[in-house]
Amino acid sequence: MTVSTILNPATEVPIAEIPATDEAGVDAAIQKAATAFESWRAVAPGDRARIMRRFAAVLDDHQEELAWLEVANAGHTIGNARWEAGNVRDVVEYYAGAPERLFGRQIPVPGGVDITFREPLGVVGVIVPWNFPMPIAGWGFAPALAAGNTVVLKPAELTPLTALRIGELALEAGLPEGVLTVVPGKGSVVGQRFVTHPAVRKVVFTGSTEVGKGIMRGCADQVKNLTLELGGKNANIVFADADLEKAAAAAPGGVFDNSGQDCCSRSRLLVQSSIYDDFMAQLEDAVQSFTVADPGSDSAEMGPLISSDHRDAVAAYVAAGEVAFTGSAPDGPGFWFPPTVITPSSISARDFREEIFGPVLSVVRFETEEEAVRIANDTAYGLSGSVFTENLDRAMRVSRAVEAGNISVNSHASVRYWTPFGGYKQSGLGRELGPDAVAAFTEEKNVFLATSE
Ligand code: NAD
Repeated sequence: MTVSTILNPATEVPIAEIPATDEAGVDAAIQKAATAFESWRAVAPGDRARIMRRFAAVLDDHQEELAWLEVANAGHTIGNARWEAGNVRDVVEYYAGAPERLFGRQIPVPGGVDITFREPLGVVGVIVPWNFPMPIAGWGFAPALAAGNTVVLKPAELTPLTALRIGELALEAGLPEGVLTVVPGKGSVVGQRFVTHPAVRKVVFTGSTEVGKGIMRGCADQVKNLTLELGGKNANIVFADADLEKAAAAAPGGVFDNSGQDCCSRSRLLVQSSIYDDFMAQLEDAVQSFTVADPGSDSAEMGPLISSDHRDAVAAYVAAGEVAFTGSAPDGPGFWFPPTVITPSSISARDFREEIFGPVLSVVRFETEEEAVRIANDTAYGLSGSVFTENLDRAMRVSRAVEAGNISVNSHASVRYWTPFGGYKQSGLGRELGPDAVAAFTEEKNVFLATSE
């Protein structure tokens, strides 16, 4: 059996050896989930809700353990990791409210009664990337379980530790065996088998657009349900009528949070010409005081990148661009990279078009609102975006005009578990979170009952 060595990205020290599941092992996990589905779907709604609330309570009891595990495995700052552990608990608790509220409808028809049912799909395969191992797992498995499905979950090769622990905690909380099974291993083996195995009725994939397209093609063979959460190249548009101090203070967090390894990272900054110089001076101060440090320290705002290969890929973008200024990063072991601001030669430069997925911000200027919207939309992606302005009309106009699933005004916050999240264009298909996510894990059945006159 192949084993992968998991490194702490802040120290490069090995912290675990995790066996990679082979195809027979994946098939066994899927079979176990298919068997468990027959009884899990039959659990009374109130009981399913109670088990999920218990799961949320067990997750709550293990918040610090999960957070520190993520600091060690993914190099996330302890502040972020605590938020992430809290998010997975909250998502489970939120969807624990769903089983008793999985309503159908009664639709008036002649000659009888027509009612609809929301029925679970069966086994759901959730494929998770390395950048937010806990939240993204929870966004898939929690609504799926609430609707009566069972789940097989594949964490990313580099970051399996929190998912494996969450799988153990699920059993401890009383989820029956086979209801939530974590299957570590390679994408081309485990993830691919979720796509090809006929017992898996839906795939939830979060990751790169390129891999997502292949998964979509694979799902077509069985007309398999699919949710895709893919890449982003999100615009932060700062107008001259913005509160500049606030916009400059917020910009580094909007792009460098999680070392820029965030599909919602505001990695394109569009600044109106009349305030460009003033804004850039304030931005430089903000970037230079952005704290890149040991992710376990309370003051760290940014930790390392996930791996040496990824650091090389990020560095290649910077080498090809015009660096305006950088922040600082620790020396020594660890996959460190400083926050970096680039002024691209044009809006067709690679750093302005491609998702770098690192702490790199590309800044351009614009003259008019129309031009800002045109530049913001000149991308294959459409995940998120921000608008900084004190003009309410403009805020609403631009929010509606930017083709992206999640827009923030005078803020970069994109994720709340009770609001919908997902992408336009090549950033994805379907929505996660929010009040409607459970419906995406059901089939709607229509039943007509003829009645005699
Ligand atoms: P990736 O596409 O390389 O891998 C994602 C997951 O898919 C991993 O678990 C991987 O093992 C698996 N995988 C790889 N090849 C596969 C295959 N052929 N079949 C099935 N599964 C396969 O992405 P990554 O590098 O782990 O993550 C970074 C990407 O994720 C970025 O593009 C980022 O924007 C995106 N992302 C999107 C969102 C969102 O919600 N839109 C959130 C986080 C990350």
